[in-house]
Amino acid sequence: MSLRMIMVGPPGAGKGTQAVGLCERHNIIQVSTGDLFRAHAAAGDELGQLADSYTSRGELVPDEVTNAMVRERLAQPDMANGFLLDGYPRNPSQVGALDVMLIEQGLKIDLVLELTADDDEVFARLLNRAKEQGRADDNEDVIRHRIDIYHASTKPLLDVYQERGILLKVDGSGTIDEVANRIDATIAGFLTQVSRFVA
Ligand code: ADP
Repeated sequence: MSLRMIMVGPPGAGKGTQAVGLCERHNIIQVSTGDLFRAHAAAGDELGQLADSYTSRGELVPDEVTNAMVRERLAQPDMANGFLLDGYPRNPSQVGALDVMLIEQGLKIDLVLELTADDDEVFARLLNRAKEQGRADDNEDVIRHRIDIYHASTKPLLDVYQERGILLKVDGSGTIDEVANRIDATIAGFLTQVSRFVA
């Protein structure tokens, strides 16, 4: 069944890791705006350079740029079997843009998964990732800024999906497997109430 979902959570909550596992288990495609921006930046193209000037400061890339990139990706044929949006939408205005794209494609989001983690925990994890992987936006000031932006810009969009009755909240603390099991149980429970998924 072609599951279409969104994953939301603070930077460092483990979204990326959990998204990869979820996509394998559900045989759907991960669309990570952060990964797309990093791929463009690595290629050194115009979009990559522009994105990098924002991501390196922990700022959101402007909505028009991000929305256009996602619109193009969602129009590709491999999206038909389901997808997981990781890192998009990231503010209420992107929610509106996504709504329009989905109407154009005749698609609906089944669920939004919020992976929770407290600020101290994500801060420590990101500092550690900085040491291990040296990602350009993983330094102390930029990390703090990304966490602030999450509270100010991203958290408010959860209310929208809560009102639509498709928001699922999962605790992101514990080992990767513990969190994965929690996510699977929560999604499985929810899908028993969604007619399209009930046999
Ligand atoms: P994390 O959430 O762990 O910080 P991501 O890989 O999801 O990492 O995103 C890295 C950066 O890419 C963000 O800090 C932001 O600058 C940019 N970015 C990613 N997704 C979006 C988006 N939907 N809108 C605007 N900017 C984005």
